[in-house]
Amino acid sequence: MIPFLNLKEINNKYSQDLKDACARVIDSGWYIMGKELEAFEREFAQYCGVQHCIGVANGLDALTLTIRAWKELGKLKDGDEVIVPANTYIASILSISENNLVPVLVEPNEETFNLCPESVAAAITSKTKAILPVHLYGLISPMKELMDIAKDHGLLVLEDCAQSHGAEINSVKCGNWGDAGAFSFYPGKNLGALGDAGAITTNDSELAEVLRALRNYGSYKKYENKYIGVNSRLDEIQAAMLRVKLAYLDEETQGRRSVAQYYLENIQNELCILPKWPATDEHVFHLFVIKTSHRNALELHLRECGVQSLIHYPIPAHQQTAYEGCFDNNLPLTEKIHEQVLSLPMDPTLSTNDLKTIVSAINGFKA
Ligand SMILES: *Cc1c(COP(=O)(O)O)cnc(C)c1O
Repeated sequence: MIPFLNLKEINNKYSQDLKDACARVIDSGWYIMGKELEAFEREFAQYCGVQHCIGVANGLDALTLTIRAWKELGKLKDGDEVIVPANTYIASILSISENNLVPVLVEPNEETFNLCPESVAAAITSKTKAILPVHLYGLISPMKELMDIAKDHGLLVLEDCAQSHGAEINSVKCGNWGDAGAFSFYPGKNLGALGDAGAITTNDSELAEVLRALRNYGSYKKYENKYIGVNSRLDEIQAAMLRVKLAYLDEETQGRRSVAQYYLENIQNELCILPKWPATDEHVFHLFVIKTSHRNALELHLRECGVQSLIHYPIPAHQQTAYEGCFDNNLPLTEKIHEQVLSLPMDPTLSTNDLKTIVSAINGFKA
């Protein structure tokens, strides 16, 4: 079986570096909020081109704590509306409801899977205070247009960059377009730790300062608490793992793009719609997602041909039990997307033989 994602193979390339970094932390005797975190925050901020990076425990916390920090700063309050794409992974939406704000689910652009400026503009009310674009599957959202809308209406912008490390428009990376960017370093993400980790990027020093306190019990100084904070820290071992892997992120992204290019050039089946790749640097191919009205049959066919594929995501947030009765259910485009999407194996360690097997399996699929 060709696996959807071979994490062991991916990390195996850096095995010695990872082990050395791990030993360095073990021998240091310092495991939380130390030199590795400081260095990773500096290096990732530099990579993204931003002034500040604040490490936290995971991607969901990166989103949730940013909204929370804006509440502490008086920029958001309970009941404010936040515009978010309806087809995103549920974490983006949870970060809004967790803060007692109102997620306003907007249908995405059917081709890019991302927010489209026209739908965002149409969803703005007097209660709208923020936009939460998600760079889904690795394709950066139309940030120039979204920032223009935000500026016109005085809205905050929080980018969900959990799937898009390094994606850029005109050499400006994701996480450097909005007021803040939230990253996940879950092991399977493009930049993955060997456990849970996340971070916020921003050029707003005031926001960065509040976030640094919120992640550490709301405290700037030990045993003095300014906010009712949480414990959401990125530990030294994970920071050290991320420093090793950050150095190879661009190389990994090129590997992903080669796989995507192979798929785009070789998959030929009129039952399948291939993803859009507008310009090289805008897509980092966290996932390669095709659409077909025969999704379940194709998934089964691929499995029979020895190819693992996955669905991102099988049930949209507004149809989850957790959100029963919370949302207007008139989201036909989002529901159609969830019925049609299928993610093909995507990682830079796929061999040419693997790719040939995958492509011939898809090309041989008949309804
Ligand atoms: C993975 C992911 C998150 C959450 O990240 P965790 O580190 O798993 O908490 C948020 N948003 C999107 C779009 C994601 O893919």
